[in-house]
Amino acid sequence: MIPAAFEYHRPKAVADAISLLTQHGDDARAMAGGHSLIPMMKLRMAHIGHLVDLQDIADLKGVTIGASIRIGALTTQAELINNTALTTAAPILKEAALQIADPQIRNVGTVGGNVANGDPGNDMPGLMQCLDATYTLTGPRGSRDVRARDFYQSAYFTSRKDDELLVAITFAKPVGGYAYEKQKRKIGDYATAAAAVQIAASGGRVTAASIAMTNLSDTPVYSAAAGAALVGTACDAAAIKSAVTAMLLDINPASDNRGPVEFKRHLAGVILGRAIARAFSRA
Ligand SMILES: Cc1cc2nc3c(=O)[nH]c(=O)nc-3n(C[C@H](O)[C@H](O)[C@H](O)COP(=O)(O)OP(=O)(O)OC[C@H]3O[C@@H](n4cnc5c(N)ncnc54)[C@H](O)[C@@H]3O)c2cc1C
Repeated sequence: MIPAAFEYHRPKAVADAISLLTQHGDDARAMAGGHSLIPMMKLRMAHIGHLVDLQDIADLKGVTIGASIRIGALTTQAELINNTALTTAAPILKEAALQIADPQIRNVGTVGGNVANGDPGNDMPGLMQCLDATYTLTGPRGSRDVRARDFYQSAYFTSRKDDELLVAITFAKPVGGYAYEKQKRKIGDYATAAAAVQIAASGGRVTAASIAMTNLSDTPVYSAAAGAALVGTACDAAAIKSAVTAMLLDINPASDNRGPVEFKRHLAGVILGRAIARAFSRA
């Protein structure tokens, strides 16, 4: 598999990358780790005249931890896993990142590429919806912030414009217990279904809950109703069943090589139940 010919660009600043994207329009594409983009080019499913490699842009790298957490778009999945301060501040990131692909891919694949891609099978968009993260996009008209919960429009379509770069992802330091539960067909595979859950509790009762599901619709699904079903409960079997029932109203899985719709709906309920129980036990 050999991609069609393309021009390779390696800018050193965000402004230079944006000017290349603006100049070449739909014929240009940013590349971070390349682990989603290059296979598409090799399969000739993406025809790109100008590849804008972001690897030399220092401003896209790094993690800052304060009251909120800021992750540069070019941070790799392996860097997330190995950052102990980040794991202390937001442990769900490591639990989720360890379930992405394999170490070779995690060494190169970036958080920014994972969330900007718009692939419903990617794990980090649902995770970022669970954390209520904000994406900072910079383009020729300046910078703007978009909530992860508003970013995804349909499979591979997001609210990012062609001439905008995702620069960073920011979210408040999460409180309480967490769980990222993923069911896949084999090691290294994309999710058949996955659930990201954060639960805050006090006195044995849930005070806040955030739930997002992966690969069960053509976008990640933040289920406000599922989280609300847990609030005020002791997270017993009846409460978990109510949350699962609410989540099932929000997803719309398609039948494919990962299974028929009925199987995916059943599986979604099982993994969400497990994720809620684990998150509550850690809250
Ligand atoms: C065998 C295999 C298994 C995998 N399994 C999983 C899995 O289980 N779970 C999972 O989540 N992922 C999986 N992946 C995908 C992997 O995590 C990718 O690395 C990731 O989805 C994309 O990150 P990247 O840095 O490689 O992005 P790239 O491939 O470089 O880019 C992906 C898309 O995002 C755009 N983009 C990248 N960075 C930016 C930016 N800063 N601003 C604007 N646009 C940008 C690109 O233009 C492109 O359209 C797998 C990949 C492979 C090859």
